[in-house]
Amino acid sequence: MSLLITNVELTNEKTDIYIEGNHIARIAPHQNVPGATLLDGSGTAALPPFINMHNHAAMTLMRGFADDMVLQDWLQNKIWPFEAKLTEEDVYWGTKFACLEMIKSGTTFFNDQYWFFDGIARAVEEMGIRAGIAGAFLDLFDPAKAAEIHQNTIDQYNKMGRYSDRIQFVIGPHAIYTVSEESLRWVKSFADEHDLLIHIHISETQQEVDNCIKQHGMRPIEYLDSIGFLGTNVIAAHMIWLDENELAILKKHEVKIVHNPASNMKLSSGVLPAAKLKEYGLTVCLGTDGVASNNNLDMIEEMKIASLLQKVNTMDCLALPADEVFSWATRNGAEVFGLDCGTVHEGGLADLILVDLNDINLIPNHNLISNMVYAANGNCVHTTICDGKVVMHNRVVPGEKEIIIGFRKTIKDLLSR
Ligand SMILES: [Zn+2]
Repeated sequence: MSLLITNVELTNEKTDIYIEGNHIARIAPHQNVPGATLLDGSGTAALPPFINMHNHAAMTLMRGFADDMVLQDWLQNKIWPFEAKLTEEDVYWGTKFACLEMIKSGTTFFNDQYWFFDGIARAVEEMGIRAGIAGAFLDLFDPAKAAEIHQNTIDQYNKMGRYSDRIQFVIGPHAIYTVSEESLRWVKSFADEHDLLIHIHISETQQEVDNCIKQHGMRPIEYLDSIGFLGTNVIAAHMIWLDENELAILKKHEVKIVHNPASNMKLSSGVLPAAKLKEYGLTVCLGTDGVASNNNLDMIEEMKIASLLQKVNTMDCLALPADEVFSWATRNGAEVFGLDCGTVHEGGLADLILVDLNDINLIPNHNLISNMVYAANGNCVHTTICDGKVVMHNRVVPGEKEIIIGFRKTIKDLLSR
């Protein structure tokens, strides 16, 4: 299977992109490839796809369900009771709908943490994109529950042969306030043994830090370091409340950081110390978090929010410029997951997007990356390609109507339960 995208703009020059299988075989103008499927790229520019590094995709089911609330009240009184009713089928539909939204806004990979691994994986497989999936992992300090979760994790890991290589198994302890020290130690050794990435929420709120100090006499990063949990394979979402000693510890272990500005602003969690992270040379990626706290999965909007938040918080217009936040949203996450799609290049994975240069927000085109970060939104994405396959062309995703019908029916069933 081969695909030739003709007359497309790439870094300000018109060219053709030839895709063979799931790789970009050749980038050069005026190619003639007999037998290749042709895709007219006129009026579009090719860019790397967005890599959403922190998500709970099926939370699309809760869009607008509980807004304007305090985090702990929101979790305990609205989100967790709603989630208690979820079935694998609900999560499948919620994730499928999330994939639709992500494809329509140019995201081809998301790092997920949620209930019902198989429901998530089935949706991702069908939609043709990629995901790192971590099944929900909370023991709530109950040894019996911990033993059960450890076994479930092992069983799930052993079933991975049934999925394509578009699905990566990730282990996702929820947070230090929902997972015991014993389980965190178990996660770390299981992940190291099987060469897995770990996806966890850390230092999202001031309260989390205060409670950690009360309980362990240490701040969260110090506590995790003291139990040997940290390492290059740890992906830490939020990471707002960090002191200088914690930053040094993070650097020592090269922990990967995910910024979720919309969620952090909406839940009044705080502001990522971006300048400090840069000073320490830490890798930062971008994520939307779940729809329940965003309330969409548009990585293009997220870039703008991230940049503006830093500028106003530091009162420095130079903070988090467009190129830098664009890397957070694309290349940095791709590298963490070993996906060679952080830039559009020969030999790289055929995961890319075409943006519509006739979209009002991309005119005039003085600087495409600036337009993408500050002017555009997901609607400027014309075509999305993942693993060499066109998953959206001219804003049409095959089966879109059926997905919306199935998703609405799921919501109706959920509310009547
Ligand atoms: Zn989260």
